Amino acid sequence: MINVSKIRKGIVIDHIKAGDGIKLYRALNLEKIQGVVVLMAGIPSEKMGKKDLIKIETDFDLNTDLVGLVAPSSTVNMIEDGRVSKKEKICLPKKIKGVLTCINPACVTNHQDVDKLFELESEDPVRYRCCYCDQVMRSDRG
Ligand SMILES: [Zn+2]
Repeated sequence: MINVSKIRKGIVIDHIKAGDGIKLYRALNLEKIQGVVVLMAGIPSEKMGKKDLIKIETDFDLNTDLVGLVAPSSTVNMIEDGRVSKKEKICLPKKIKGVLTCINPACVTNHQDVDKLFELESEDPVRYRCCYCDQVMRSDRG
């Protein structure tokens, strides 16, 4: 169980693989938000050996696709009124929008204002396929 007693409202991202906490912190641009953010690294965990955890103690529009990309198999807990109001197990997103950039310089997504859309091509290694030009690429966040 996570101790959420001190958070009235916010988000706790738990079960982050040890070492990925700081990557997720940077990917989500958490240094830019107003409010308290706590990154705990190397917490002893029975299941995982060690894990990282991030607490965001404010309103934050969390991009779960991005969480899935950087820290797949983490758990997102939404906190309202000091309780967990929603708990979500995060996986690699099957489809992802607006997070990755196509590596094909000729791709239309790099020249026109269209939604960047990718589909999961393989999970190990993590590869995504551009829905516009079929370029397959690895996730540059992992
Ligand atoms: Zn493309």
